[in-house]
Amino acid sequence: MRCPECGREMRLSKEESIESFKGSQVRLSYDVYRCDGCGSSYVDARSLDEAWKKIWDNYEKTNCIPSPADLRRARENRSESLCG
Ligand SMILES: [Zn+2]
Repeated sequence: MRCPECGREMRLSKEESIESFKGSQVRLSYDVYRCDGCGSSYVDARSLDEAWKKIWDNYEKTNCIPSPADLRRARENRSESLCG
């Protein structure tokens, strides 16, 4: 990816940030493009989405919120419990 400001090739680096989520602190890890030329930085939106998705997945697991796939399985096979 090239810098929209100055046209230089940007460097991909990893960034971490602590965010609050459902009353607790979670650590997000995502990609950021940095420009050595002008100092601009741009968050890779897709990697940030994925980081949040992981937080959600963890949250659903620890709180036993069934995913749509689990619900479908449960309907198809009622002997299977949702919480494993
Ligand atoms: Zn630049």
